[in-house]
Amino acid sequence: MNSPDKLIPPPLRNDCFAMPQGAYWTPVADALDHLRTHLRPVTGTETVPLHQAAGRILATPVIARRSHPPQANSAVDGYGFAGPAPVGAQHMPLVMGRAAAGQPFDGSVPHGQAIRILTGASLPQGVDTVVLQEDVTTDGTTLAFHGPLKSGANARKAGEDMLAGAEILPALHRLTAADLATIAATGGGMVTVRARLRVGILSTGDELIAAGDPAKASQIYDANRPMLCATVAAWGHEVVDLGRAPDRPDALRTIMNDAANRCDAILTSGGASAGEEDHMSTLLKDTGSFALWRMAVKPGRPLALGLWRDTPVFGLPGNPVAAQVCALIFARPALSLLAGGNWLTPQAFQVPAAFDKSKKAGRREYLRARISNGQAEVFPSEGSGRISGLSWATGLVELPDEALHVSYGDPVRFLPFSSFDL
Ligand code: AMP
Ligand code: MG
Repeated sequence: MNSPDKLIPPPLRNDCFAMPQGAYWTPVADALDHLRTHLRPVTGTETVPLHQAAGRILATPVIARRSHPPQANSAVDGYGFAGPAPVGAQHMPLVMGRAAAGQPFDGSVPHGQAIRILTGASLPQGVDTVVLQEDVTTDGTTLAFHGPLKSGANARKAGEDMLAGAEILPALHRLTAADLATIAATGGGMVTVRARLRVGILSTGDELIAAGDPAKASQIYDANRPMLCATVAAWGHEVVDLGRAPDRPDALRTIMNDAANRCDAILTSGGASAGEEDHMSTLLKDTGSFALWRMAVKPGRPLALGLWRDTPVFGLPGNPVAAQVCALIFARPALSLLAGGNWLTPQAFQVPAAFDKSKKAGRREYLRARISNGQAEVFPSEGSGRISGLSWATGLVELPDEALHVSYGDPVRFLPFSSFDL
C-alpha cells in the first residue's frame, strides 16, 4: 500500500540549472539565488524514534503533546506555602510529610502553614511559593524566615516554558541535541522527518589513486573523496561512496547510471571544465539539462550542473581547495533544499584583518583563514593546490565581488568552518 509517508516528490525539471543567457561570469549571489529558487525536496518522509532523530530534518512542525513543566513545581530545595509573605519575621507550623520530585504530597497545605519541598516536586495544593532552605531555621515542627517573599517565588508555573498544543519546532528545521530535549520534555517520542538524502561522492581523473595505496610518481592521491564524504556526512546526509572514475566516457557513464539508481544527488569532483579531458561536463552535455556555471569566485572554476537520469549532479572542480570551497558555498545549501531542509546561509563574523591585500573587481574571494589574537590571519599562499592550508585554517575570509584594498586592522567577514556545520 502507498502510505503518504512513503510518497516521494517528482523529479526536478530538466531546466532547473539553466542560467539566463548572456552573463559570462556568474556572480556567487546570482548562482545562490538560482539554486534557491529552482531546487526543492526530492526525498520522502518517515517517522523515527526520537533517539535516532539527531541531525534529521523535520518534515512537519513538532507540536507539544503536553505542557512543560506539566505542573507547577519547586525550583529549589526549601519550604512551600501560600505566598506572599509580608516584610518581617515569619513563623509557620510545618505540615507533616514532604514533596519531592516524582513523590508528590497528596494532601493540601492549610493557609499559614508550610511544607518541606525539594527541587522539581509538584507544588501541593495550597502552595504557590517556596522559601530557600538556606534562608530558614527550623526545629522540625516550625519554620522561621524573613519576608518579604513574592507570591510564586522560587516556583515554576505549569506551562511557563512550553504549552501543550503549541508549535515548538518548525518544519524544515534540522534537529539538534537540544531539540531532542525540547521534544522529549513535551512528551514526543517519535518525529516525522525527511528520509535521508543519499549523496553520492565520485572522484574523477586517470591520475587518481586511493589514499594509502602504493602510487607511481605520476599518480595523485584522491584527496577529495575522503574530504567530501566527511563533509556531506557532517551535514546529516547519507554518504554513498562512489569511488573513482577514470577519464573514459564509457566507464564514467556506467558509474553514473549505477549512481543515479542509488543516490538522490551526486557530487563529483574533477573533469568539470570545458577541456578535452573534462568528461563529466561532456557526459552531462548529452542530458539536455547541462549547465556550466562560470563562477565569479576564487578559488573555483566552472561548476558543472545537470541531471543524470533525474538525479541532480554537482560537478565540483578537481582542485581540492576549490572543491571544498564550492561544496561549502554552493552544494551545502543546495543539498539542504533537496533534503527538505532550509536554505542555509553561513553565520559570518566581522573581525579585524591581520593582513594587507588588494583585489580586483569581478570575483568573490574566499581565503583560508584562522583567528589569532582576535584577528583573521590568512594562509600565506593562495595557491588552490595547497591542501595543507585547509587544515591550517579554521574558516574562510570572504572578500566581496568589488575591488577592494584590505589594510591591517580593517574589518573583514570571517566564516568559521563551524558556520558550515563542519
Ligand atoms: P580537473 O578539474 O579534473 O582538471 O582537476 C584539477 C586539478 O585537481 C588537477 O591537478 C587534478 O589532478 C586535481 N584533482 C582532481 N581530482 C582530485 C582529487 N580527487 N584529489 C586530489 N586532487 C585532485
Ligand atoms: Mg581531471
